[in-house]
Amino acid sequence: MKIATNNLKRQYDLYADEYEEAALKCLRSGWYIMGPELAHFEECFARYIGTDFCVGVASGLDALHLAFRLLEIGNGDEVIVAANSYIACVMGITMNGATPVFVEPDCFYNMDAAKIEEKITPKTKAILAVHLFGQACDMEQIMKIARKYSIKVVEDCAQSHGNHWNDQSVGSFGDIGCFSFYPTKGCGAFGDAGCIVTDSEELADRARVLRNYGSNKKYYNEVVGVNSRLDELQAALLRVKLSHLDEMNEERAALAHRYGQEIRNPHIVLPSVRDGADSTWHQYVIRVKQRDKFIDFLSHHGIGTMIHYPIPPYLSEAYRYLGYQKGDFPITEQQAAEVVSLPVYNGMTGEEQAYVIETINAFEADERDYDS
Ligand SMILES: *Cc1c(COP(=O)(O)O)cnc(C)c1O
Repeated sequence: MKIATNNLKRQYDLYADEYEEAALKCLRSGWYIMGPELAHFEECFARYIGTDFCVGVASGLDALHLAFRLLEIGNGDEVIVAANSYIACVMGITMNGATPVFVEPDCFYNMDAAKIEEKITPKTKAILAVHLFGQACDMEQIMKIARKYSIKVVEDCAQSHGNHWNDQSVGSFGDIGCFSFYPTKGCGAFGDAGCIVTDSEELADRARVLRNYGSNKKYYNEVVGVNSRLDELQAALLRVKLSHLDEMNEERAALAHRYGQEIRNPHIVLPSVRDGADSTWHQYVIRVKQRDKFIDFLSHHGIGTMIHYPIPPYLSEAYRYLGYQKGDFPITEQQAAEVVSLPVYNGMTGEEQAYVIETINAFEADERDYDS
């Protein structure tokens, strides 16, 4: 049996008729950028998250870039972010000229809220809460700290569409919530797309101006903006996807539940969910000390895996100029060396999952390597 880590074709097939109908309608309408489909999707998505406004943009990275720009965070400012985040989170900060300040993750792979306060300086302007792998950060602690120091909170929800902290949707806690609709994300488009959500009318209005060359009225430009628009076709398709998001999240939760129940191997550390948090199981991330051997073993049996992420952003070539070294964030580095993401996709069959579980349970680590 061959099982890829992800399978977008399966997901497409689940609701193919609806996507095709929505796409054709849009194609035949003759209106492709900044039209009724975008307005409709923005309204539906804001309602879904529980914020007053949603502004569609061209990608998740653009959403982050614009979020910090809207909050006027840039040169000389610091933003606190988890050291194990995806590199785009850090780019959203540095593209604005601000400096990322890293915090170690906890055992749920999210920012360890107990380690935030020691990183706060007079330059700290915001916390970027990244809800990694689909699980909500501890928003109670993060919001408490932000209020105490009067700093902003931006949420990166690119991996956690429809996820909650204490029954409130992520993206609705901070000043701005940022989403990516990259195809593999929980609410994925069929190309690049993203959005920001906020309760601030002023921020939403300025975001609408910024995404469209800094113009509200055609050919009258108030500020130097960017071209970052969510097109009509993607908006139309995303509206269909959004209408099925809860069922898709439930389907992945059931897959995650089964992994949790049936994977039995002393060499594997299974993921857990914090009290108060939900997970949409964007990734099912386990840890294995002998990772290379484990990946080879699964691959030999036709099972694909991924590593999210092999190199923490502060050790990547791109951020060499920040001056960090190996050993600066030991928890992050240990996770980076041991994490493996298992296949968990909509449309995965029970038979496929049984095969993955059976294969994993048959994996035997080499004891000698363990001791060394
Ligand atoms: C995917 C992702 C992004 C970037 O989104 P794009 O749409 O690919 O630009 C940002 N942050 C996180 C956590 C992501 O997973």
